[in-house]
Amino acid sequence: MNQFGLLGFPLSHSFSVDYFTKKFEREGIKEAEYVDFPLSDIDIFPELIQTHPDLLGLNVTIPYKQAVMKFLNALDEEAAGIGAVNVIRVDRSNNGTPYLKGYNTDVIGFRESIRPLIKDLVERIQANKQINNGLKSLVLGTGGASKAICYALGQLNIDYLLVSRTAGGEGAISYGDLTPDLYDSHRIIVNTTPAGMSPDNAGCPLSDFSHIGSGHLLYDLIYNPLETVFLRKGREQGALVKNGIEMLHLQAEASWTIWTTR
Ligand code: NAP
Repeated sequence: MNQFGLLGFPLSHSFSVDYFTKKFEREGIKEAEYVDFPLSDIDIFPELIQTHPDLLGLNVTIPYKQAVMKFLNALDEEAAGIGAVNVIRVDRSNNGTPYLKGYNTDVIGFRESIRPLIKDLVERIQANKQINNGLKSLVLGTGGASKAICYALGQLNIDYLLVSRTAGGEGAISYGDLTPDLYDSHRIIVNTTPAGMSPDNAGCPLSDFSHIGSGHLLYDLIYNPLETVFLRKGREQGALVKNGIEMLHLQAEASWTIWTTR
């Protein structure tokens, strides 16, 4: 039985087990199982690999996206550029000796899910005869997901400005520094903070939406709830909006391709 799984701690809300178990059933994938590996100490990781000889692939979540990197034999270019890994491929083709390579599929998930909306946004801006001197974005939050989002925006040639509760770090401005001019020049706003994520459903990273309009695109990485306060308020202002569910599915499918493409 080929084994795949999720590494993290604690693992109370595993989207991945549900997603892959249903995928295996739906697509008639036999001899495969997907399980949670809640490790309270990342130093047990090498032992996990040794004691699970059928384990061929892992997703990695909080808090090990960076801590697991020291145990890997190689990193792909995107994971190295971001400095975080959310997928590990375990290659045992060399007499069973495990060779571990790290990837970051959050980049793929975000980039491919926002791409069609960027086209829509540009069409809207042009239709409204609004200024379009190159798309710029505000990225709310400076955590692990933010790094993958900034990397993907770079690939899409979209400038970004980080917004943080603590100005200064990593070149970020604070929420209090946001002005009408900044909203006018930055038409894409990406929420990479957990503000608004269940059970904090009333949370929202922004307090003032009055400078957001139909020439904006609001993207929230959160997928539970499907419509956060951030997205609802953006929608009410006429903005294009997108939640994190497609990104979640795309990054999971990208993991499967990495594990199963020889
Ligand atoms: P994280 O590291 O815990 O937090 C991200 C950043 O958000 C923090 O560094 C912080 O930045 C800011 N922040 C934290 N709490 C906040 C609050 N109450 N109000 C405002 N800002 C706050 O989390 P993460 O791993 O980057 O993940 C962030 C979100 O993205 C989570 O909701 C996660 O579920 C989601 N996510 C979704 C996908 C997907 O596929 N859709 C993939 C990855 C992550 P500052 O200190 O600079 O303010």
